[in-house]
Amino acid sequence: EEDPRINGIRTKIRVVPNFPKPGIMFQDITTLLLEPKAFKDTIDLFVERYKGKNISVVAGIEARGFIFGPPIALAIGAKFVPLRKPKKLPGEVMHEEYVLEYGRDCIEMHVGAVKAGERALVVDDLIATGGTLSAAINLLERAGAEVVECACVIELPELKGRERLSGKSLYILVEYR
Ligand code: AMP
Repeated sequence: EEDPRINGIRTKIRVVPNFPKPGIMFQDITTLLLEPKAFKDTIDLFVERYKGKNISVVAGIEARGFIFGPPIALAIGAKFVPLRKPKKLPGEVMHEEYVLEYGRDCIEMHVGAVKAGERALVVDDLIATGGTLSAAINLLERAGAEVVECACVIELPELKGRERLSGKSLYILVEYR
């Protein structure tokens, strides 16, 4: 049984074909943000799942994990840790590279932001190949955190990104096929 709020969320996500390049079906969550009810339902669904689970870290991935992560963190009483693109964080960082379709990318986290033994949730807007989330999991585990789950608004299941998360649990609200 699907939660009745899910369909409201699904219909507010705009799909833009061939952006930013041919063949990509871009999932635009800015249209979801324009609808206070659907945006609130999105946050509430995550908060209902994670409150009371003893999670002390919400790690959000730049850039759209910075939209959904902080309201979840505040509501469950966790800290928010930004996982950023290279050379944005001013302090000492740990970095983790990952492979893209063409080339490589990297995310960074401040040393000391997460302590060994902390229970962490990783948040992004979307999982495609899973490369980004997999790098985020590696960063947090290198810092000694326990990654409880990854949470995204949207999954592109055909890309099988789930299989790259080395057995970590993934929770999503909407599948795009
Ligand atoms: P991946 O590492 O392949 O799982 O890609 C996930 C990251 O790329 C997320 O941070 C998404 O915001 C972005 N992304 C990948 N594919 C799309 C898409 N079709 N629409 C919107 N964002 C995407």
